[in-house]
Amino acid sequence: MSKKWVYLFGEVAEAEKYCGGSWDKVRGLLGGKGSGLADMTRAGVPVPPGFTVTTEACNAYSASGKFPEGMWDQELAALKEVENETGKKFGDPANPLLVSCRSGAKFSMPGMMDTVLNLGLTDKTAEGMIKLTNNPRFVYDSYRRLVEMFGSVVLGIPDEPFEEGLKDYKERKGYKLDTEMTAEDWKAIIVTFQDIIKKYKGFDFPQAPLKQLELATLAVFNSWNGKRAVDYRRATNIPDDLGTAVNIVTMVFGNMGNDSGTGVAFTRNPSTGDRKMMGEYLLNAQGEDVVAGIRNTDPVENMSKVMPEVYNQFMDITNKLERHYQEMQDVEFTIERGKLWMLQTRNGKRTAKAAVKIAVDMANEKLISKEEAVLRVTPEQVDTLLHPQFDEKAKKEAEKAGTFFAKGVNASPGAAVGQAYFDADKAEKMAKEHKQDTIMVRPFTKPDDVHGMIASKGVLTSEGGATSHAAVVARQFGIPCVVGANVIKIDLEKRKMEVNGKVVKEGEWISVDGTTGQVFIGKIPTMAPKLEEQVELMTLLTWADEICATPGMRKAPKGWPTTGLQVWANADYPKDAQRARTYGAVGIGLCRTEHMFFEQVRLPIVQRMILSKTSSDRTAALNELLPYQRKDFDGLFEAMNGYPVIIRLIDPPLHEFMPDEEKLFEEVVTMRVLGKKEGLAEKEDLLSAIRGMHESNPMMGMRGVRLSISMPEIVEMQVRAIFEAAADCTLRGIVVKPEVMIPLTGTLSELEWIQPRLERIAKTVMGEKKVNFSYKFGTMIEIPRAAVTAAEIAKLAEFFSFGTNDLTQMTFGYSRDDAERNFLITYVEQKILPKNPFQTIDRDGVGKLMDMAVIDGRKTRPNLEVGICGEHGGDPESIEWCHIIGNNYVSCSPFRVPIARLAAAHSALKHKGIGIAEDK
Ligand code: PEP
Ligand code: MG
Repeated sequence: MSKKWVYLFGEVAEAEKYCGGSWDKVRGLLGGKGSGLADMTRAGVPVPPGFTVTTEACNAYSASGKFPEGMWDQELAALKEVENETGKKFGDPANPLLVSCRSGAKFSMPGMMDTVLNLGLTDKTAEGMIKLTNNPRFVYDSYRRLVEMFGSVVLGIPDEPFEEGLKDYKERKGYKLDTEMTAEDWKAIIVTFQDIIKKYKGFDFPQAPLKQLELATLAVFNSWNGKRAVDYRRATNIPDDLGTAVNIVTMVFGNMGNDSGTGVAFTRNPSTGDRKMMGEYLLNAQGEDVVAGIRNTDPVENMSKVMPEVYNQFMDITNKLERHYQEMQDVEFTIERGKLWMLQTRNGKRTAKAAVKIAVDMANEKLISKEEAVLRVTPEQVDTLLHPQFDEKAKKEAEKAGTFFAKGVNASPGAAVGQAYFDADKAEKMAKEHKQDTIMVRPFTKPDDVHGMIASKGVLTSEGGATSHAAVVARQFGIPCVVGANVIKIDLEKRKMEVNGKVVKEGEWISVDGTTGQVFIGKIPTMAPKLEEQVELMTLLTWADEICATPGMRKAPKGWPTTGLQVWANADYPKDAQRARTYGAVGIGLCRTEHMFFEQVRLPIVQRMILSKTSSDRTAALNELLPYQRKDFDGLFEAMNGYPVIIRLIDPPLHEFMPDEEKLFEEVVTMRVLGKKEGLAEKEDLLSAIRGMHESNPMMGMRGVRLSISMPEIVEMQVRAIFEAAADCTLRGIVVKPEVMIPLTGTLSELEWIQPRLERIAKTVMGEKKVNFSYKFGTMIEIPRAAVTAAEIAKLAEFFSFGTNDLTQMTFGYSRDDAERNFLITYVEQKILPKNPFQTIDRDGVGKLMDMAVIDGRKTRPNLEVGICGEHGGDPESIEWCHIIGNNYVSCSPFRVPIARLAAAHSALKHKGIGIAEDK
């Protein structure tokens, strides 16, 4: 006996047996549509009788170029069964059976493969149908659709001759719309279309229904390897060897009078997620009429008045389907002469808001588990829910209207609308004093631009990449930001920017979409969501935390974490820390202390400290800074009561705190030319000091721990401020867990030089204040050498935090400030790199170094605390990597904390119970 290639919808149990009980394999064998129809049939849902030719048959056909042995006979036998069930006969003019022939692969490939409707109509059966239906217009319309579809889909004739044929006819008749066509008109068109087939193919449109079926089956098989389908599979990573199934389904018609109809519906509201059916239907209509919007549809609930029994049955069935699939369903149905038929059911597409609500509701209804609910929402959907978004429709209209301006790197998500200003002071002034919504536009930003960024609704730069200053700061503060839009020419002198002749002058409105990287001229309406109002999202995230906090999520050696990841936040100021707490962070993973030095009152003291000629002058300036820093840390500890706070000691090169060299030089030259003496000597001194600090490669220069070793007074002051604040807080009853982080370490000896000095200060302060609390000293791992020598470094470092911005920069040798602008985008486009490594961790290189560092570090210190504080800490794929290699936590900007909480739970569930290092 030959292999079974054809399954009736009623034979799903057999298919399941063949597939060893795996539903996934049944989907593979019968395709998504076929398995869905069969499954509905089994559940007692009225599905028009039919059968499925398997994907295995398709693959066999692809390999040999002909139907596999026995397949066609099985198809004919299955057709007999359908005839018996329906009481109709294929090709019988007295009572003809009509069928559709539909493709259906395991994964939905919408519109990529072929479908033919109304097979079985011929000149003879059409006349029979007219007698049965008394509706010649409907029959001729159906027949001309078959001839046209058969011609184009099955026989490969281009669409144009058919379209032209119809167009000419309508012109001759003076018609504008298809609805004006009468039965006789369609009858004439059938002849025209049949002539086209004859002309193109040299043979007649087949009047033998079985020939129609055979050729249609072949066409669907062939469409699996059609260009459209192949391109789609490439783009969506669907394997080529899956093949498509072919579904032969009895045609049912909703346009057979007022006891017929057709509609589509979602079992819950796909836009809000509300647990209420949402759908529409039309009496006496065909499926396309509902979708095409030619006639005004009725809400599905109105069916309860017109056809109460059908309505109740429909509600029953859809409830059953939702419970069966444990998912919101998108269904298509037809009522033929008072009988309801379900034509399709599939998981419905939905908005982010609806996805969260439906998942939480279904878990509360005990339809699915909390884990399943968490898995049903993607981190991207959470992201969408947290940032103001542009109204998509309005954006499309803007695009059509030609106001699109430029595209850059989508550095910080959300929508921002404001007036463009080309420097930080002006942006801040217009925002604060003139209450304008501003967008700060710069070629790139520097630390002393932060006040302008914070005051603005959005930030746009023409240079820099995903980890540029603008990007990092914008993400930290949740400001929508597009960076590296290098088509924009910014003219700071003339206060305008330009792209191919389109000019935006200072003060003009622009709209910046940080989610997509697009920039538009003018205002596009936005919608702003709030986390605390999103009750379901808050619930879902609490479940995500519970999942991560479950012991045994990771199997690991002693000392390593066995729960999932914690989520901490990068926060510099108490108000950021408070926000981080509100968003669910359970620690601060990075406080960049230098940001505090830029505040207006402090910067002059910092500059005086830098320019000090003697150590005692420097100490005097630092003593002035100490109370400020103490206050900063005090606020952080208070906000994070009971949770760890990692404070990083000063990191950037000192020149960043000094005035701009070029600007100062201009001032000096102008003063000299104008003969202005007053203040000139001081400016000249300052200029020469700045020039003295010049480095060719400042990012690889005197910064991080190197700066601390050259000028220990600064970090000594910082450690004193940390411990004084921690002691004061302890005395006020706050639980502090300070962790002092030394940046940019490359060798153990650097730590050996600096750490004991700092620890001495810590102990001194605790002695002075007579308090005791636990603390840690640790380091960032952001130089490859530190990762490679992690076993050594861990002798002193009590914790590691991966600074993956620098680690990526130094591992690849790509400048984090310039790479995106210059070549990285091309690298990704050309697939030289799979992703931007500054956004998603490069597992093979940077990730390997991280992995090694964790393993080696914990060989020396088994309970070593490991985290990440680079920008990757908020990226779902990178978070998964941190889970796999055994991090304790990830730290990201407060605004990304909810996304990271969900991504951490996803990682925990995906790798549940797997030993760390086993699935790398
Ligand atoms: C890093 O390098 O990843 C990091 C967090 O430090 P910064 O971005 O401040 O250099
Ligand atoms: Mg760094």
